[in-house]
Amino acid sequence: MIIRKAEIECVAALKSQYPTKGYPEVAFAGRSNVGKSSLINALVNRKALARTSSKPGKTRTINFYNINDALFLVDLPGYGYAQVSKEEKKKWGAMIEGYLNGRDELRLVILLVDIRHEPTQDDKLMLEWMRQTGKKVVVVATKSDKLSNNQLMKQVPLIKKSLKLTEEESFVLFSSETKRGKDELWEIIKNECGI
Ligand code: GDP
Repeated sequence: MIIRKAEIECVAALKSQYPTKGYPEVAFAGRSNVGKSSLINALVNRKALARTSSKPGKTRTINFYNINDALFLVDLPGYGYAQVSKEEKKKWGAMIEGYLNGRDELRLVILLVDIRHEPTQDDKLMLEWMRQTGKKVVVVATKSDKLSNNQLMKQVPLIKKSLKLTEEESFVLFSSETKRGKDELWEIIKNECGI
């Protein structure tokens, strides 16, 4: 994918702030620190388009990145902080569900999990919300460079099983260090977005 343009289009806390250009959208979700910003930056060949983990307590927003005036990559707020109040969790949930439900432009939802760790309850809940959209779901296992081939061969089936991944759902091994999985992910994105 040739990236001619990769810019922040809008930072939204409310539905009314979502962009109205109608470009197809690809949403990314995952626990904080999973490597979501690194993956978005790797996809678009930028060092710091997506910023790394905002700390708990900071305003959570949904960030829309304009790619080539053809597509939005949508960065959903990271989750899984230990020190988060029930109140904050509720707000986070409402924000993510509010986006995922009934967003016509949404074509593809991508859940990021760290290849080294068993998916958490939060990951599973997130995946359920993603499945309910009826859109194509991809699970991306990040930081694949941190494991040997032997370890990968053990972890991949564990993660797939834990998430009860189906035949229709894709699984991609990714590394923002080596760029493993980058082309594969772009192929899926281009296919789903018709670009
Ligand atoms: P975010 O909170 O999900 O946006 O995660 P970040 O992209 O900020 O990454 C969290 C940490 O993991 C940072 O220190 C990154 O350098 C590191 N990281 C992210 N992706 C990879 C990867 O593919 N390989 C390795 N080795 N480290 C990574």
